[in-house]
Amino acid sequence: MSMVRDEIAKMAGYAPGEQPQAGKFIKLNTNENPYPPSAKVAAAISACLERGLMRYPDPFSTPFRQRAAEVLGVEPDWILCGNGSDDILTIVTRAMVGHGECLRLPRPSYVLYKTLAAIQGARTEEIQFEDDWSLPSAFGAAKDDGTLRVVFLPNPNSPSGTVLSADAILKLAERLPCPLLVDEAYADFADSNCVSLVAKNPKIMVSRTLSKSYGLAGLRFGFLIAQPQVIEQLNKVKDSYNCDALSIAGATAAIDDQAWLTSNVDKVRSTRAVLETGLAQLGFSVTPSQANFVWAKHPTASAESLYLKLKQERVLVRYMNYGNWGDGLRISVGDDQQNQVCLTLLESFLSS
Ligand code: PMP
Repeated sequence: MSMVRDEIAKMAGYAPGEQPQAGKFIKLNTNENPYPPSAKVAAAISACLERGLMRYPDPFSTPFRQRAAEVLGVEPDWILCGNGSDDILTIVTRAMVGHGECLRLPRPSYVLYKTLAAIQGARTEEIQFEDDWSLPSAFGAAKDDGTLRVVFLPNPNSPSGTVLSADAILKLAERLPCPLLVDEAYADFADSNCVSLVAKNPKIMVSRTLSKSYGLAGLRFGFLIAQPQVIEQLNKVKDSYNCDALSIAGATAAIDDQAWLTSNVDKVRSTRAVLETGLAQLGFSVTPSQANFVWAKHPTASAESLYLKLKQERVLVRYMNYGNWGDGLRISVGDDQQNQVCLTLLESFLSS
């Protein structure tokens, strides 16, 4: 007898990137920020601890929404907060996609979307990126059977780090018969974003995270920007207290410190350029990235064996294998020294 629903018994479950809890690794595998967050984060968390944790937190993360609304130029009731943006993706999937219905995503992109659909007993439709990382027109088409309920699009995409223009995304939403979630986990590292589109089309939702550009992957805080009538429906699906008091305090302090964000993003982007050039000099084909990671393939060396050799030297990168689409290395942008260690090791493996 299986204790769980058929869909759960049959699915594999999402495998997150390796998070070694012991030993010293240079961690370039899950797109974390190499730098510690704004000092204001720890101060806000300490103050919250001093006040005590005996009360439930604000169920709607109100202080964060107020500050984020000012930063993003929307109203607070356009924002829904979550325990990381994975929680936001879960809430949207649970609210929008039912058993037997369909969630569309591009391929290759963020693998978690498929898991979220599988939990619902929903189907997924994967539409492959073109060779230049644009999307074919089928990505915006209706489905004949009328089951398409939501489309997820990471922008910048993972693993490619590539971006579709806001204009292209607005046109895509206009064609689609269903809502479009633009997953902007990496948008702070990019030249453009889609926040202003949310006011233009009620079908467009934009998700963000503090895990990457704010250096707070361990805090677990993400949020969604959507029109208030959409947020109102999604609020019915979230856990009552999906963000804890410490994370609300820390996240509010983080988004308040936009000067920290700007200088951090500048550093990551300049190291990214060094990483891209270094990999290209080693013969990799490197997709120009707008994120805090780089997608690299080598014409002769096996990506998997390079990953394993790096791991032996205690440098973790992400080996991605998308079956018949192909494989490659997704390398997060570390600090300058981590970057250099990674490049030097790759050079030695390739020359031996
Ligand atoms: N979206 C994309 C495209 C990601 O790569 C990630 C990181 N794994 C997330 C969302 C989720 O990040 P978090 O839950 O830490 O906010």
